[in-house]
Amino acid sequence: MIPVFDGHNDTITREDAADFVAGRAGGHLDLERARRGGLAGGIFAIFTPTPGEDDFVELGGPIGQDVAAPDATRAAGRLLALERDGHLRLARAPGDLDAARDAGRLAAVMHLEGAEAIDPGLEALELWHAAGLRSLGPVWSRHNAFAHGVPFRFPSSPDTGPGLTPAGTSLVRRCAGLGIAVDLSHLNEAGFWDVARIDGAPLIASHSGAHALSAASRNLTDAQIDAIGASRGLVGIVYAVNFLREDGEENADTPLEAIVAHARHVADRIGPEHVALGSDFDGATIPGPLGDVTGLPRLLDALAAGGFSEQEVRAIAWDNWRRVLETAWGG
Ligand code: ZN
Repeated sequence: MIPVFDGHNDTITREDAADFVAGRAGGHLDLERARRGGLAGGIFAIFTPTPGEDDFVELGGPIGQDVAAPDATRAAGRLLALERDGHLRLARAPGDLDAARDAGRLAAVMHLEGAEAIDPGLEALELWHAAGLRSLGPVWSRHNAFAHGVPFRFPSSPDTGPGLTPAGTSLVRRCAGLGIAVDLSHLNEAGFWDVARIDGAPLIASHSGAHALSAASRNLTDAQIDAIGASRGLVGIVYAVNFLREDGEENADTPLEAIVAHARHVADRIGPEHVALGSDFDGATIPGPLGDVTGLPRLLDALAAGGFSEQEVRAIAWDNWRRVLETAWGG
């Protein structure tokens, strides 16, 4: 079975650690199903829902650190407890990814999806880094002290508002210095270009699709995709059907080939070495034929049927994320 590194899931935010270990009836991901699907590593998002709103449905307003910090630190604690109890290994350095995979233990990268838990002065960032944070999206699809997230619109350009704030520029610079990957998936277009101008780190969109195939505001224009290629970064192809489908509908009756088509579009523009996977497991409606994480081997088969060689499939499944994270982490 080809091992898979997946660029984005919301599982640790949604479920308690006991369910993750013991197994769940619903959702997309738990420890046992990860093993069956060949999921050997992934980026585990810590997400703070907007108070009073249904978690993922629409653009929420900003939330304050008084709400976000306790929620986020508890989710981080759940990840650390899973590591302490031997259920997974938090990847803090590139070698941790390989070591966990080779030992048959799930490698988890701690990720903040929206940096509300970090103060604009960035003092808390040091604590988060010490706790194992190795990936950070400055915003989810709402605004905060650092940047403006892209709202969920269809059809819409991702150019929906202003870019990074001065504190956001400092945050991105500090992440580069600490070896924390910066994820662009929920930034609007102005913010994307602001990050692209800051330093030579690889540009990473952990769970996005191609705007040319599905005109969702959350997807990447060809110009953005080209910039990601030029930076030696990657696009983790998202499985969220509303970002895959030409009609933008949240309809699970969507074939695996829709994921393959977005991978093909990015590969044809910037090369398969810049294509990876970014499911959004437990955060989105995914194609019915995939089902959950146990469907990953079927997705890899569909990539092969779509013309990717076995070496390219292995790179999309693992090596590309491994390479880009090593660069971002300064390994
Ligand atoms: Zn997301």
